[in-house]
Order: sequence, then structure tokens, then C-alpha cells
Amino acid sequence: MPHDHSEPHSLLPSDPELRARALETILVQKGLVDPAALSALIDTYQNEIGPQNGAQVVARSWLDPAFKARLLADATSAIAELGFEGRQGEHMVAVENTPEMHNMVVCTLCSCYPWPVLGIPPAWYKSDEYRARAVKEPRAVLAEFGVALLAGQKVRVWDSSAEVRYLVLPMRPAGSEGLNEAALAALVSRNAMIGTALAGTA
Ligand code: FE
Repeated sequence: MPHDHSEPHSLLPSDPELRARALETILVQKGLVDPAALSALIDTYQNEIGPQNGAQVVARSWLDPAFKARLLADATSAIAELGFEGRQGEHMVAVENTPEMHNMVVCTLCSCYPWPVLGIPPAWYKSDEYRARAVKEPRAVLAEFGVALLAGQKVRVWDSSAEVRYLVLPMRPAGSEGLNEAALAALVSRNAMIGTALAGTA
């Protein structure tokens, strides 16, 4: 089901953090949420789940053509092979950058994001400005992020939804031929997997 893009973002709370705290307080007071369980969940997403997971997926795709084929055919299953699955990652799609096509991900409505592979979204990803400009003027946004597109390279913007989350596979950098999976993963930043950066230099 697509987003309802007609909902005006200006009506969203001006202070989401405050509202989250208020909600947490009420849920705990009513006994609906165990504070310890909540802390454990937050700790998991802050410390155990993060872009290092996605970077491992990308590195594996660079090294293993059969894995890459599975990843492009069914990203959810391929990513689960590495043990990364769960909430907000139930319907993953991997999109591959090529010399002809650069991919970039946004959630125009809110902040849909592939948690199991990238962790919690950065503030800029959730900003009104990025969400609006990524679709209207993606090349200008990419330039501001310092992404130098190749001559003739097209840009495709993927709008995340409650159902589908995207993982960008950046192009493998030149000079990285001899590197192992861990060394390759170190070249893959969070932004590279959102499409607002390229993979680092080897
Ligand atoms: Fe969203």
C-alpha cells in the first residue's frame, strides 16, 4: 500500500523526542511496556544493529557473484543468509549502482529505513528538506553530499514505504581487488548504502 502523500508534514509534532518520552511514560505507567525491555531494544539498535551489517552485505556482493545474484533477486532472503533480519527489514530490495545508474533512497512521507542493515536513520534522512528535495532535485542534493556523478550517469530515486525498504549497492572502488570481505566492508559507509555517498577509496 503506498503512502498517503497528501498528509501535510507541517502537522507533525514539532518535538518528536518529547512526544516519544511522553508516550513511553504513559505506556510504562499503564504497564503496557517493560522499561527494561525497552532499554534492551534501544541498546540493540544503537550498538548491535547498524551500517556495519549492510556493509557486510555489500562486501559479500562484491566478492560473491552468486550471492549478488540472490541479493538482487530477493534481498530479504539473501540478507537473512548473513543473519540480518527483523523489524523494518521484512521486504528488502537491493538496487545496484552502475556507471549508467546511481540510486538514492528517501522516504518522502516519514523515515522508513532498513533497520536490520542500517540501524537507526540519521537526522538528515528524516528532515523535511531531504525528503522534499531528494525527489525534486536529486542531483543538487547529491552534489551537496559531495557525490560526483559520472558523465551520463542517470539518477534513480527510490521512495521507501511501510512495505519496501531499499539498500543501495555502491560500485566497488578501483584498487580494491585484493581486499577481503572485512576490508571491503570498511569502505562502505552508511551514506553509500542510502546513495548519498560513494564507496570509499581502497
Ligand atoms: Fe516512511
